Amino acid sequence: QRQPLVIANWKMNGDRNLVTNMAKALRESAAEFAAVQVVVCPPAVLLGHWQEAAFYDQIYLGAQDVNEHSSGAHTGEHSCTLLAEAGASFVLLGHSERRQFYGDSEARIGAKVRQVVAQEGMTAVLCVGESAAQRQQQETFAVVSAQLAAALSELTECEQLVVAYEPIWAIGTGETASPEQAQEVHAFIRQWLTEKFGPAGSLVRILYGGSVKAENAEALFAQADIDGGLIGGASLEAEQFVSICTAAQ
Ligand code: 13P
Repeated sequence: QRQPLVIANWKMNGDRNLVTNMAKALRESAAEFAAVQVVVCPPAVLLGHWQEAAFYDQIYLGAQDVNEHSSGAHTGEHSCTLLAEAGASFVLLGHSERRQFYGDSEARIGAKVRQVVAQEGMTAVLCVGESAAQRQQQETFAVVSAQLAAALSELTECEQLVVAYEPIWAIGTGETASPEQAQEVHAFIRQWLTEKFGPAGSLVRILYGGSVKAENAEALFAQADIDGGLIGGASLEAEQFVSICTAAQ
């Protein structure tokens, strides 16, 4: 009912070589994850190269961020239309690195979500998650629901939405949430989405992100409310990433 989804977030890494090698590796193993939707979010300047390298492959492209305006005097920024033109049909929004270091406030993230869903054929991947201190204070559910409410309050439909749960303490640390820890928050998010959007909310895919590797992917993806993963470091190594896609099958 919910197609498994694996998204690579290359962050500010990769080059044309990696594009070529990753596209080739995914093509060679495509039959092993035929049921999985695979999305690669390289740095925006590599989108064009990926489109050329993987033109005949069933791999979707995404961007790591978008500007909240549709055009105009916003030096250095990219609009949804520009990203769509470069081949992207997914956009990551509210990643913790952007919230922490690049001034993405709740209000701005909400505006970005609205831009993305207004663009036909585009899907917003909203990232949420608590810090280590917030988890210790048992604030995980409060933090996550506040992030969901702020970003999604003005949305009435959720067909173009994916949510990624990325506990900040698990990002790039090698410390993965246990499958049970992740499932508990995913179930909470599922319930929140269903209360907000009705039955359609239960069809929104919820991804786990934070130190997902080939070794732990299968146990995470086996959980009832984990529909796939948002992969950072391990998405830069072809063999690792192919194994993770296969684990979602
Ligand atoms: P890592 O997989 O490197 O922990 O990064 C997760 C992430 O932030 C993906 O968006």
